[in-house]
Amino acid sequence: MIISITMNPSIDISYPLETLHLDTVNRVTNVTKTAGGKGLNVARVLHQSGADILASGLVGGHFGAFIQEKLSKEGICHHFFMIEGETRNCIAILHQGKQTEILEQGPSITNDEAKEFLSHFDQMIEQASMLTFSGSLPAGLPDDYYKDMIDLCHKKHKSVVLDCSGRALQNALKGQIKPLLIKPNREELAALLGRNVENTITDLKEALMSPLFDGIEWVVVSLGADGVFAKHYDTFYQVKIPPIEVVNPVGSGDAMIAGLAQALDYKQSDEKVLKHGNVLGMLNVQEKVTGQVNMQNYRVLFDQIQIKKV
Ligand code: ADP
Repeated sequence: MIISITMNPSIDISYPLETLHLDTVNRVTNVTKTAGGKGLNVARVLHQSGADILASGLVGGHFGAFIQEKLSKEGICHHFFMIEGETRNCIAILHQGKQTEILEQGPSITNDEAKEFLSHFDQMIEQASMLTFSGSLPAGLPDDYYKDMIDLCHKKHKSVVLDCSGRALQNALKGQIKPLLIKPNREELAALLGRNVENTITDLKEALMSPLFDGIEWVVVSLGADGVFAKHYDTFYQVKIPPIEVVNPVGSGDAMIAGLAQALDYKQSDEKVLKHGNVLGMLNVQEKVTGQVNMQNYRVLFDQIQIKKV
């Protein structure tokens, strides 16, 4: 079973408006409210691609209950840790082809909750064959919290696929025990290295040879429509994907994480790991709803992906 962790989930509210009027009332009819957060997208995609999946992380209050209800309705197993604070709302106002977002910071986690979650997590790990950690850490948790979680997984011989950015990622990489895979996009890679990274084989290769990545088995740099550049131990791969119609690219990185984790969990070859990750990313791009994939289109995309050792 794969356990997908979301430490800072949200209720994603979408308000489609003809026009956004400032300093007055805007009435909206076509509201959608979904259980959001990167790890929940990972869980949804894994569920659709047939994986045995458990969603976990931190939720609180009525909105936390709403998230659990939504997942149950979708048939996704979950085992969250309840916190005192209220799970956040993230609002996207869609108007005139633009998207104005209002993102709540979310609850602040107390020291006791931080400790208690680690023991909740420690007990859960037993059931997992693979874990994914996605997204930001909520306020109150130390920047190296993912490192502590990775250490617990290591003690039980479980691998972690880590998808986060900024200080949470920097600190997770400082630990002696490394995640099995990280998937920065080019901007996240540049932020990590403190320098611009060109989309060329030479520069990507040089970037991934940084000592920062020593000990991490897989570093997968996702490049949107340009596919992926990846390093597995000392082998570098350039993965080219076919052009597709873009319906909604939000969450494609999460769908890719789902694919990479699933293929690694099944101990697939490098080629299959990279293809499966890209196909699920692309299938998400082709759907209106974030974290949705239509597996009927799988084969045709899979067969068009080209992988080259470079
Ligand atoms: P993130 O959302 O983390 O920034 P990317 O935008 O790089 O991640 O997307 C992850 C993967 O999803 C890509 O490597 C690719 O397989 C697929 N993908 C994303 N955007 C596109 C696109 N415009 N066309 C085709 N595939 C895409």
